[in-house]
Amino acid sequence: MFDLIVIGAGPGGYVAAIRAAQLGLKVACVEGRGSLGGTCLNVGCIPSKALLTSSGKYAELSHLAAHGVVVEGASLDLGAMMARKDKVVGDLTKGIAFLFKKNGVELIEGWATIPAAGQVKVGDTIHQTKNILIATGSEPTPLPGVEIDEADVLSSTGALALDAVPEQLVVIGAGVIGLELGQVWARLGAKVTVIEYLDRILPGIDGEIAKLAQRALSKRGLKFQLGRAVKAVEAGGNSLSLTVERVGKDTVDTIEADKVLVAIGRRPVTRGLGLEALGVAVNERGFIAVDNSFQSSVPGIYAIGDCVPGPMLAHKAEEDGVACVEGLAGLKGHVDYDKVPGVVYTDPEVASVGATEEALKEAGIDYISGKFAFMANSRARSTGETDGAVKVLASPDGVLLGAHICGAHGGDLIAELVLAMAKGATLTDVAASCHAHPSMAEAVKEACLDALGRAIHA
Ligand SMILES: Cc1cc2nc3c(=O)[nH]c(=O)nc-3n(C[C@H](O)[C@H](O)[C@H](O)COP(=O)(O)OP(=O)(O)OC[C@H]3O[C@@H](n4cnc5c(N)ncnc54)[C@H](O)[C@@H]3O)c2cc1C
Repeated sequence: MFDLIVIGAGPGGYVAAIRAAQLGLKVACVEGRGSLGGTCLNVGCIPSKALLTSSGKYAELSHLAAHGVVVEGASLDLGAMMARKDKVVGDLTKGIAFLFKKNGVELIEGWATIPAAGQVKVGDTIHQTKNILIATGSEPTPLPGVEIDEADVLSSTGALALDAVPEQLVVIGAGVIGLELGQVWARLGAKVTVIEYLDRILPGIDGEIAKLAQRALSKRGLKFQLGRAVKAVEAGGNSLSLTVERVGKDTVDTIEADKVLVAIGRRPVTRGLGLEALGVAVNERGFIAVDNSFQSSVPGIYAIGDCVPGPMLAHKAEEDGVACVEGLAGLKGHVDYDKVPGVVYTDPEVASVGATEEALKEAGIDYISGKFAFMANSRARSTGETDGAVKVLASPDGVLLGAHICGAHGGDLIAELVLAMAKGATLTDVAASCHAHPSMAEAVKEACLDALGRAIHA
């Protein structure tokens, strides 16, 4: 009899299993895909960041002349780039198997179903357990009328494993995944067009920062068609033909491409577990409904990560997992969803935490704001990474409510503001702490000073 069986070894599930074992529970983790780490390590965060880094190095070569570095005869070895990505993924997924052993988590390989509360079935074996934690994650959302074959019409998984650089790549969806993978292939030589239904990129990100990102990405070769809906993708000769409708108008355009990436979002994976028969409630979008302790509508069955409501991010899944099992072990676990950072690893990076300006306006909340452009930051000037800005939002008495960054290293810079918000810090707390010079972090301090009406370098 186990204390806990976790279904799914993604960042939510494997972290929960390890933490539960550390807390003295007898734990097993079931994984069906034949490799640990879930979407994140296998076909998500890690391979995409490996390719972003490799393609970034290639793209950098064409800018080195401005630094007085002349590179001749550079060429692309896509096979080597993909092999490196696969090795990074392989090493990390094997690392989880090691951590399971070290912490005494039993790995059960295979696809799980839940015949009844307290039972997890894998193959012909039914395992008994006091508690079940569903961490089955998510999968790409399909676009009606567009069939993904992973050869020409791709999901993010196919776009991480192409064996040649497409000439014309159309990305459907200007969200995080579409922009990151779009930039990978643009840097390697593809002509990339991003088609988005909304009239803006990066829905959910502060509008002003998203505009800065769009401008910077356009400068780096991405083309955007906003306010457009892809209605069909058809194969014709050597290329694909996309039927694209202008939203709210009668106009229909046709666009040719040799590859299409469908990146319109992700949906929870809950099919086939037997949830309906068990009476586990899901919401209208298929996410498992849970209470504050991550318990579903059926006692003893818990759920975390991408298959429950909230931001679909690896670190959020991990936080969920730890909070859930700490609760099971009698500790107090809690996740503050208002302070979960999100990062888009494009060049420039886009990072954010807390409320956007649009959300504050809509909620009728009084706020003050400050902004500082990297163009005025001396470190950015010396590296040549001057695109973008830091923006902070705070209550009239200075308590930070949100922070948004478009710029190089934004994903690292946001950590200071996440901590500040977690501790209820004010603009003055951040601005009064000494920031190294010259550093990109000085832009964070200056944005806070700007909100206080006393920026030095703006
Ligand atoms: C291209 C891409 C890039 C991304 N980049 C980032 C990023 O930079 N940062 C970030 O925070 N997030 C990123 N994400 C999102 C991140 O991958 C997810 O938020 C995260 O993986 C969710 O973790 P999870 O544990 O909830 O689920 P998952 O990682 O999806 O893991 C679920 C696991 O459960 C297994 N499973 C499902 N059903 C069963 C069953 N019945 N039996 C046994 N096993 C089962 C699956 O095989 C899978 O391994 C990215 C996603 C994609 C697709």
